Amino acid sequence: MARSETLPVLLKQLRLSTMAQLWEPFLTRAAEGRWDPAQYLAALCEQELNERYSRRIARFTKESRLPLGKTLATFDFSETPEIRPERVAALAQNSDWVKRAENLLFFGPSGVGKTHLAAAIAHGLIEQSIRVRHFTTTALVQEMQQARADLQLERCLAKLDKYAVLVLDDLGYVKKSEAETHVLFELIAHRYETGSLIITSNQSFGEWDKIFTDPSMTVAAIDRVVHHATIIEIEADSYRKRQALAHNCKSGLNCIVRKQGEQETK
Ligand code: ADP
Ligand code: MG
Repeated sequence: MARSETLPVLLKQLRLSTMAQLWEPFLTRAAEGRWDPAQYLAALCEQELNERYSRRIARFTKESRLPLGKTLATFDFSETPEIRPERVAALAQNSDWVKRAENLLFFGPSGVGKTHLAAAIAHGLIEQSIRVRHFTTTALVQEMQQARADLQLERCLAKLDKYAVLVLDDLGYVKKSEAETHVLFELIAHRYETGSLIITSNQSFGEWDKIFTDPSMTVAAIDRVVHHATIIEIEADSYRKRQALAHNCKSGLNCIVRKQGEQETK
């Protein structure tokens, strides 16, 4: 017959730290609520799982290096009427596309919310226990170039495999040089059909020949990226600019606020 005094040690050995903390206080609750033994055990297991989930999400959020606060809740969809909120919410809440290693691309000029939306979707995926890592593309490309110089590129790419999603922010800013674009192409080829990419870029495909050094590489890169991909183009004016203009309006300065395709309003 097991002895209850051994319970703290047993729970510790089983690495059930929340149950180890709660089994005693829950005895009182169980007595008060007249829980049967199975209910008591279920309540403890539930707490253990909840706590593990919270810790995992906190860990994944920290390692993702995503900008904090850029969530769907803080995104004002009325600024971007061409984007359907349900479409974006579905990408954040249903991770099937990640399981199929599909890609997601945001194109549009600077300041329209590409990074914000990419981060918001990525935060949603993390909540489903999906590992994500955000990079400024130029920084990642530099890291990979260094790895290549050290004959460690394969290892560097393999290390990124633990993330189901890589956010390549501002891909359009990669310098058109053989060394930079070659590693970027290697990354795209490596992730093809094995892991998702969320790419933001102010240059849509027509301009990718400004990124890659030779046309066949441009075609091959685009081919791999779009084969299984969702593409969201944002055509609004810069949110930052609009906010600044609106602010100036409020402070009584003369200004013109205009949305793409709208009449100018004073
Ligand atoms: P981009 O990546 O397209 O250059 P960002 O996502 O960095 O643009 O957006 C610039 C700033 O404006 C960020 O602080 C972002 O949170 C904010 N922003 C952009 N669009 C919206 C929006 N529709 N609602 C709320 N904030 C927005
Ligand atoms: Mg951006």
